[in-house]
Amino acid sequence: MTTRATTEYRYEKLTWPEIDDAIELNQVCIVPCGAIEQHGPHLPLDVDVVCPVEISRGAGLQAPELLLVLPPVCYGYTGHVLDFPGTINSHFEHFIQHVLDITKSLAYHGFKKILLLNGHGSNMPNLDLVARRTNLETDAECIAAGWWSFLTVDPTFLPRWRESKFPGGCSHACELETSLYLYLDGDNVRKDLIRNGTISLNDEGSPFNWMDLFAAGPATLVSWTSSYSPTGTLGAAELGSAAKGQQAYDEAVKQLLHFIHYFKNRPMDVRRDHHRQPPTMPMPWGQKSI
Ligand SMILES: [Zn+2]
Repeated sequence: MTTRATTEYRYEKLTWPEIDDAIELNQVCIVPCGAIEQHGPHLPLDVDVVCPVEISRGAGLQAPELLLVLPPVCYGYTGHVLDFPGTINSHFEHFIQHVLDITKSLAYHGFKKILLLNGHGSNMPNLDLVARRTNLETDAECIAAGWWSFLTVDPTFLPRWRESKFPGGCSHACELETSLYLYLDGDNVRKDLIRNGTISLNDEGSPFNWMDLFAAGPATLVSWTSSYSPTGTLGAAELGSAAKGQQAYDEAVKQLLHFIHYFKNRPMDVRRDHHRQPPTMPMPWGQKSI
């Protein structure tokens, strides 16, 4: 098929007939989701937008015939960070409804595979619900994943890459986010202000209550960020470098592309109704009947 849908990865740059082509080609839609949120004294407010957008772009440039990247959802759920100036919170109900509006629009047009590529940790429970609801309320399949999760696919990557302690060295405006931002937009990093930041609940040494970007304690208190972080930097920002940012970026893009291949070609899940007597009414809650 000769169509711009095979050479242009940016959803918003296609025309409606080209969107029809993209649907016929069963392209996977990536919706980058982030937040405008404080990232310590050294990183700008847009870290959680820039990271998933640029990783999506990297995948899109390499495989525009497989996927489309949508304009990002820039505002996220970050109500616990409002003690730091600049943070913009989207009420969790608005956020969930907003992203659902996007996935449902895509599903209605005929896109059946959607990835919510998240850049902001606290979006995760909300996007998990968006993905579940998309799966139950439309005939599309939707997966939510943090971009950093793609660094765990190859179990040898992080042990080679990470220099900071676990847990805590990679958490927020940390070794990882500082590295990636130095690589993607180093001119906008306040390099003279890069300092490691403590996480007071980790310092308690409790086996229950601790955090890291890649894991959390079995019973962790998620409360106001200002109650456990004095500067808004959580982790070993001083271990960040542009070179490490490039390594993380290349690995995330590579694994994201592997995932897109897998997800695109995977047959849709098939439901089976086990009622002996067929239900006599549509399924409630806006969920699809079989
Ligand atoms: Zn962040």
